[in-house]
Amino acid sequence: MQSIPVINYVVLAVLLAGALASLGFGLRTHWHKIRQGKAFFDAPLTLKSVLAKVNPKAFVSRGFLTSRLKDKPVAGLAHGLLYFGSLVLIVGHALLPATWVGIPVYDGWFGHWFMELGREIAGIALFLGVLFFLVRRFVPPERLTAYKARPGFKRMEVFLLVMVVTGFAAESMRLGFEPKPGGGEFMGEALGVLLGGALGTEGATTGFHLMWWLHGLLGVAFIALIPFTALSHMLLGPANSALTNPRPGMNLPPIDFGLDEDEDEDDDEAEEPVFGAAKLADLSQKYLLDAAACLWCGRCHEVCPATATGKDLSPKKVMAICAEYLEEGKLNDDSLIDVLGKDAMFNCTTCAACVEVCPVSNNPAETILEFRRHFVMDRSEMPENMAAANRNLESREHPFVGTAASPEDWRAGLEVPFFEAGKTEYLLWIGCSVTYEERAQEIARAMVRILEAADVSYGILEEARCTGDPAKVMGNEMQFVEMAEANIEDFQSMSVQKVITMCAHCFNSFDRYYPELGADWQTIPHAVLIDQLIRDGRLKVERKSDQTITFHDPCYLARHNDIVDEPRSVVSAVGQLIEMPRNKKESFCCGAGGGNYWGEQPGTKRVSDVRMLEVLETGADKVATSCPFCLLMLASSASKEGPERKVFDIAELVAETLPEEKDA
Ligand code: SF4
Ligand code: SF4
Repeated sequence: MQSIPVINYVVLAVLLAGALASLGFGLRTHWHKIRQGKAFFDAPLTLKSVLAKVNPKAFVSRGFLTSRLKDKPVAGLAHGLLYFGSLVLIVGHALLPATWVGIPVYDGWFGHWFMELGREIAGIALFLGVLFFLVRRFVPPERLTAYKARPGFKRMEVFLLVMVVTGFAAESMRLGFEPKPGGGEFMGEALGVLLGGALGTEGATTGFHLMWWLHGLLGVAFIALIPFTALSHMLLGPANSALTNPRPGMNLPPIDFGLDEDEDEDDDEAEEPVFGAAKLADLSQKYLLDAAACLWCGRCHEVCPATATGKDLSPKKVMAICAEYLEEGKLNDDSLIDVLGKDAMFNCTTCAACVEVCPVSNNPAETILEFRRHFVMDRSEMPENMAAANRNLESREHPFVGTAASPEDWRAGLEVPFFEAGKTEYLLWIGCSVTYEERAQEIARAMVRILEAADVSYGILEEARCTGDPAKVMGNEMQFVEMAEANIEDFQSMSVQKVITMCAHCFNSFDRYYPELGADWQTIPHAVLIDQLIRDGRLKVERKSDQTITFHDPCYLARHNDIVDEPRSVVSAVGQLIEMPRNKKESFCCGAGGGNYWGEQPGTKRVSDVRMLEVLETGADKVATSCPFCLLMLASSASKEGPERKVFDIAELVAETLPEEKDA
């Protein structure tokens, strides 16, 4: 180390200061674009308002430990080598100035194990990791090139490789004329023997100084370039994870419809309210950060049920187009919404698979829904079959067009109590799919048998309207708010404290969105309640060990609400559970969500057909689910395979094991 003149370090330190200034300037440039979105932080913008939005768990696990990369073992390992190798090298290089103030970081056990051996291994790891990604650019998986590959990665990978190679070259030439037998720099030692012999002492000395400068200058340039290249994800990715919503799935922000009409009349300058998004500036700053942080890795593209069934939607393409507009500073260019395309925006089933896999915590589904909202609420445009469901919601308070069923049909022949304020513990919420779809009505009948058998205090409403959830996910927020407020008023007038839902979408709406509008009751999905009743011994079920059952996770229970164990425990109580390869939070959608129950793009493969094939491949006797929409979609696909009934709600499977005398 003594062979480096002090002036070299001084020059490098000056250049490093310039590189850090470039880094700061680049990040400021990103912020200047992102800040043009709708405010994400509470005003005024202070450290406190920023910290209030920080999700430390996501920052540490996804941002710092890159936990989501484990799903791709090979690429994840390569990224781990690259990332953790870089961290060790950064820390190792940052400790170098300590020697100038007399701290011997190169001596003793720390010097040997960390500064020499640790950095040596880190350098090799970084080299292998970068090499993997560079080679893969020439034989990329489809997800990387879908729409297009993110420009700039290849250049930066070559840059990094050269930087690592010059580091090893400098080290080996130093060791060529300054051997340190038994040190930790085994790679440099071995190369040094070769190079020292080949170049001679003078050649190795000159080569060392050359490589030292080259390595130092490349290192400084690397820091300066980070925010202006694809490597900006190193900083924007963890920042994005730090600001991710702690609640999984989608959290569609409420829209403030409470315009002060008097104020508007007096103010000719008042801007027209914008519902949803047509351009980048209509999106929240968080969604713009999503676009900036996007790696274009295509993991979302790979898991998207719309993409997989040939529909006109790729979440990667949506994010990449937004990123291109952002890069070009086209914040106010409302051609964006048409470039993304109406069909694509309505093909999203809101399954949140893209949200679950994104390594930098992006939420493409929420961005898509913002554009969908604009089509619906600003342009009054949506696919005709979804529009019909919406019109039905407005006129008949449920979305099932042309149904002949009446709300009393499902309970024909049963004595079902009505909810009585102050007397009944649970409100059994039926939901419109169970009310109006004949096959789904059997879920409610089974649930009544279960509640009677377990002696649960429950009652139903004499009259009910939809939760409004279909309106919300189809982009008609105004209709959702109207229906939700009416339901909240009804529930509160009856002092409802606990609600049982059989539909995953009803549960999600009540639990996630209703509290924002003033709801104060507790909602429990029937899968969770049945599990509790079995565990508490209130429900005696009979297990048929020769009956094999696979379980299809509804997106709105598993991915959106982390409910995966309870339904499995119920299935295991009545039969032998067989898992599909895609299960729990990695489950594949049934295709109904986001209003696609009414509007799946014609002429494409059905999402439920793909899922049903996965069901059949398990060889299980039955498939259970815990959402009427999943049941209806899978049952319709199963009917193509033959008349045999294979698809059941877990309530039906439990009810059929109950002793006859407990029948309601
Ligand atoms: S949104 Fe996430 S998963 Fe999709 S391409 Fe971007 S970084 Fe990858
Ligand atoms: S939410 Fe589901 S359907 Fe929508 S873009 Fe994401 S993966 Fe595709």
